Amino acid sequence: MLEALHLTKIYKTKFGACVKALDDVSIQFPETGMVFLLGKSGSGKSTLLNVCGGLDAPTSGAIIVKGRSSNAFSQSDFDSYRNTYVGFIFQEYNILNEFTVEDNIALALELQGKPKDKAAIAKLLDDVDLTGYAKRKPNTLSGGQKQRIAIARALIKSPEIIMADEPTGALDSATGKQVFDTLKKLSKDKLVIVVSHDRDFAETYADRIIELKDGKVISDVTKTEEKQQELTDNVSVVGQTLCIKKGTDLSEEDFAEIKNFVSQSEGDVIIASGEHEVKSFKEVNHIKDTGEMEVFCDSSQMPVEQKIYSPQDSRFIRSKLPARHAFKIGASGLKTKPIRLAFTIMLCTAAFIFFGLLSTMTFYDNESTFKESLKDSNYQLIKLNKYYGVTETWYLDGEETGSYVNSMNTKFTPQELQEYASQYGKDAFGGIEAWGNVNVQSVPGDYWVSEIRGYAYLPEDNHLRQKIVGAYPKKDNEICISSYMADLLVTCKPLDQKTGKPIELKERDDIIGRQIYVSGSAYQVVGIIDSGSISEKYESLKEDNTTNYQLYAGYYSELQDGIQLIGFVSSDALMSIAEEESNMYYNTDDFSYHRVVATFGEKSDANFVFPDWGNAGYAAFSKYAKDTDIIPLVEGGTTPQKGQVVVSEQLFYELMLELCDKRGQTQENAELSQLVGNLYNGGFDYQNKETGKWEFRSYTKEEKQQKFAELVELMHTELEQLTLGMRYFDDYDYVGVGEVKTYAVVGVWMDNRNSSGGILFDDATATELWDIQKDTVDYYGEFETNYVASGDEIYSILYIPYDHSQAQTDQLWDMYCTKQYGEDGTRDVIVSTLISNLEMIDITIDVLYKVFLTLGIILAVFAALLLSNFISVSISYKKKEIGILRAVGARSIDVFKIFFSESFVITGICVVLSCIGSILSCGIINGIVNDMMGTTLFVFGPISFVVLIVIAFATAVIATFLPVWNAAKKKPVESIRAL
Ligand code: ADP
Ligand code: MG
Repeated sequence: MLEALHLTKIYKTKFGACVKALDDVSIQFPETGMVFLLGKSGSGKSTLLNVCGGLDAPTSGAIIVKGRSSNAFSQSDFDSYRNTYVGFIFQEYNILNEFTVEDNIALALELQGKPKDKAAIAKLLDDVDLTGYAKRKPNTLSGGQKQRIAIARALIKSPEIIMADEPTGALDSATGKQVFDTLKKLSKDKLVIVVSHDRDFAETYADRIIELKDGKVISDVTKTEEKQQELTDNVSVVGQTLCIKKGTDLSEEDFAEIKNFVSQSEGDVIIASGEHEVKSFKEVNHIKDTGEMEVFCDSSQMPVEQKIYSPQDSRFIRSKLPARHAFKIGASGLKTKPIRLAFTIMLCTAAFIFFGLLSTMTFYDNESTFKESLKDSNYQLIKLNKYYGVTETWYLDGEETGSYVNSMNTKFTPQELQEYASQYGKDAFGGIEAWGNVNVQSVPGDYWVSEIRGYAYLPEDNHLRQKIVGAYPKKDNEICISSYMADLLVTCKPLDQKTGKPIELKERDDIIGRQIYVSGSAYQVVGIIDSGSISEKYESLKEDNTTNYQLYAGYYSELQDGIQLIGFVSSDALMSIAEEESNMYYNTDDFSYHRVVATFGEKSDANFVFPDWGNAGYAAFSKYAKDTDIIPLVEGGTTPQKGQVVVSEQLFYELMLELCDKRGQTQENAELSQLVGNLYNGGFDYQNKETGKWEFRSYTKEEKQQKFAELVELMHTELEQLTLGMRYFDDYDYVGVGEVKTYAVVGVWMDNRNSSGGILFDDATATELWDIQKDTVDYYGEFETNYVASGDEIYSILYIPYDHSQAQTDQLWDMYCTKQYGEDGTRDVIVSTLISNLEMIDITIDVLYKVFLTLGIILAVFAALLLSNFISVSISYKKKEIGILRAVGARSIDVFKIFFSESFVITGICVVLSCIGSILSCGIINGIVNDMMGTTLFVFGPISFVVLIVIAFATAVIATFLPVWNAAKKKPVESIRAL
């Protein structure tokens, strides 16, 4: 059944040398009997046994198993052959310590896919004299007992071949004898191949002895019996031994034979007698009591009986390591490195939580959140702003350093209002954002905001007009305030401008017919428009000294979303407000902010005035201002000519303050400085007669004009000669570059803007300066926009009615989605707390998604490496188990099973932890968002759970595969050698 054919095995050592462990070995093994492989250490015995047992593959040649040549075997065929036919016994017993005696034995059965047969195991334990040891753990047993368990394990599957490599090497001789006796018994109906270097045992037990030297068979002998040859009735001879029967009375004939025997002998002859001596002599010389003598003769003389096998005879059983064993062996690895395990689990869990959150984020649907939130909102009006994009491109030493698009506010034209009205309904109306302070006595708490944030005009057919108590303004100085503002006035008491005294109001309607002052301008209240109710959650802001900033911020933006802070005025009044505010919006192309400085008169560095902001912008007059915006300082100063400039209001005041300083410290100058300061601040401080507190009051338009004229009058001598010196400054060390050029200051640009030190030149000079600037200044920017104001822009806000319909909501969603500027360079933007919160969430999710993805991937890589390392360590701890299993007949796939179950146990723990983690994190994020928005964003639902599991196990498979593959692809003999 087993034959070795021209087996050669060459090992390559680490240093590249070749060792021929087997050199063309051919052996035909008998069907049954005990075959000893004998030889000195290093002669190739183990190699031969391993190759014959399929633990190792030969370099060339083959083994023939039941007629099948190993040349056609895959690695798993070798494993299956061993699993089916071979029981291995090792010098070191090789039993699994975490399994009981019974389970160790059962394993061999189970690897064959057979159930654990307790009765058969008990019987085998009886056979090896270990009755009752079934439930013992191996570490409580002696070496001999362990080896007998190994024998029982080899026997349980009734293999046709038993292979034992120095099975008694670790045992004392008495125990060793027991083991050989057992094997001898088995050899009656099995082939038992034993590796040994003990010739005495071999000669005693062997049916055949094959001796190896340097990988070659140097002798192969088989035991036979030599018959006793009777020379006479009393004297017989066997081999070199002459036997004389007990109690013989020697005859002549007998003497003649003895004489003949002696004379033929080459050396001395001993005649011994005595029962004991004779018995031990017989034993040593293998002479049986019946007289036959066991002798070994060349096996080639003894034909080996060979069965003929058909392919059906050699059915291999593929190993099948039961999952629970794989799990048990795998899970036992978790105990070995608890700290490393905890660390691995922590990192994996963190990585998986990120993926869990990521998956919930992917399911966040901003479209439906937008639409649902909007439909659920109590918005009656939607407020729109119009922006235009300005592309800023910055250069350093002529090289572009960056470019970005800036959003700038602009206004809607009446035509655009019409378009919205036809799209969303006639109730759309326009307004102008303008800030004004409503003069009141005192403001308790944060609830009352005594500000006007804008003005609007309601056309006659607008349905909001029906919500007015009183009348709609007709004259320029009439106003219709919101019901909120009316309540505010009742609570905070408006101040009478003339007497400075607070006006007591009993109820809202009492304000009708009275005057109020908004940033100094007087308005007659003619009506109150219902501005709707305010959510109760803001009631707490009414209390004094509450500083809940988050609540306040939400409240303030809600007020701005609505019409609470809007003053309704006549169409004409709105137009004049528009006129006043018109300069706020202008084309910015080529409006360059650069470090230019102003000086008076002489061109010396000492005379330079640095504008506060360090930069003064300049631009071509025709592009930025209209001559009506300019207050001339000299005749014809409304339009700058060559050599002349118009300066911004703010720069003008700075120049004036500087002039005051130069004039010296006189009473007159102190008053002058005060006047300039007030103009600079747009108002003055005064002491409230009622409260004694100092308060600020803005100038009215008329007051300001008057004060300005006063200033011009007072300083007219200087003003006529006022010149502005200008030169560029280096960006880094702030050193002036180029020549100082001087210009006559001919006018002031009443631009109302609060951050500009702008200087306007005639077009030719502006272009010239721009060119010089490019040559002299290291760092400068170019501004470009497609937007060209048509000149009839009025409304900085449009209010469009919102009917909560799907169609309108869809339109608003489209508008929200349009982040690009249109061909005309503009886009319309919905301005509301809800929308800006949604936008913030969108952006946050976008950012979080990227951050979580990056972090998740980085962590997952580390987690995978850690897990991979953990499994590697575990594999090195489990080398022994793998070797044993392979020897018994487990295939590579079984090794995979073990470590994948270990890895999956870890992953399973991580999945549970990261699900909990993800749910908790979602809860925290939702809590925060809910406070802000009242919506739940992240739902860790079943799909997220599945995504998390898939990612977790994919990571685990990748991390586990490589180290396990390395271990599993090893030949069994390599695993065993590592034991
Ligand atoms: P024995 O069992 O008779 O002591 P082996 O079969 O173990 O001998 O070894 C035969 C020869 O092969 C020895 O010279 C040994 O050093 C060499 N050998 C065995 N295994 C390896 C191996 N994995 N790599 C290199 N040489 C080996
Ligand atoms: Mg050996």
